[in-house]
Amino acid sequence: MNDEIRVGDVVSTRKPHPCGGSEWTVVRAGLDVKIRCNTCGHLIAMDRQRFLQRRKAVLQRGPELITVPLPPDR
Ligand SMILES: [Zn+2]
Repeated sequence: MNDEIRVGDVVSTRKPHPCGGSEWTVVRAGLDVKIRCNTCGHLIAMDRQRFLQRRKAVLQRGPELITVPLPPDR
């Protein structure tokens, strides 16, 4: 599995949340990753490395980041 993390990704984790849910939505993807429990709405933040260790599967991909190519110098 690649290490790409997108806002809007729906992921499952190795350990379920105490509420019983194991599906999460990525709401922030940077140096820190913030995910929201899809079952109870709880938000947790962790660093990228830890997120990748906990992530079991990507159930649904978030939208592609839109990047505008830079124009050539001349
Ligand atoms: Zn929960």
